Amino acid sequence: MAVAERNLILLGAPGAGKGTQAQRLAVRFGIPQISTGDMLRAARREGTPLGKKAEEYMNKGALVPDEVVIGLVEERLGKPDAKAGFILDGFPRTIPQAEALDRMLLGRAPLVVVDIVLSETEVVRRLASRMVCAECGANAVGEGPACHDCGGPLVPRADDREQVVLNRLKVYRDQTEPLIAYYGSRSTYCRIDGARLPDDVTADIIKAVERHR
Ligand code: ADP
Repeated sequence: MAVAERNLILLGAPGAGKGTQAQRLAVRFGIPQISTGDMLRAARREGTPLGKKAEEYMNKGALVPDEVVIGLVEERLGKPDAKAGFILDGFPRTIPQAEALDRMLLGRAPLVVVDIVLSETEVVRRLASRMVCAECGANAVGEGPACHDCGGPLVPRADDREQVVLNRLKVYRDQTEPLIAYYGSRSTYCRIDGARLPDDVTADIIKAVERHR
């Protein structure tokens, strides 16, 4: 029997836990996690022309231009492993990106929109203490000095410096929060309290997603 296509997007402020949750949901549902932040950081590490262009925006906490990320996502969603569904993490982040996504998904299963809600105070606290691997970019787990995936050194993420964090929050409020109104009236929109342990957040998201089978 064919498994129903599951198309998920995760909304939420920087630091709300989108990346952590997307990774877990990808394993649970057997669909790829598509993180525009990870794709852009990989391009930056590899020094591709796209990576060099994206870097200028990312270092300031600004958004990379819509046409760049829309192109990236469109190409990625066309790959065979995304045919049975996907979890988008960090996209869409603007109304034009959301409109482009709706166009890409015409004729496919409806989007399930998971909005992970977290207060600004908590966001700032979390981002100030986040560490990532300098080699592979993975988020650090626990307290150790080295990356659990590749053994590389752990460093603060380049865009987690305080001034950049404040700018990312402003960008979130101005450009991304309007997506809540864009999606809010859909029957597939779910709000999840992100200020809890990751396992509890995951369990709630799974329940919400199962309701929309
Ligand atoms: P966070 O959600 O913690 O801010 P991400 O890893 O999702 O982190 O994104 C990091 C940076 O990558 C953003 O600040 C932005 O510069 C760029 N970026 C990621 N996704 C997008 C997107 N959909 N549109 C524009 N820029 C993006």
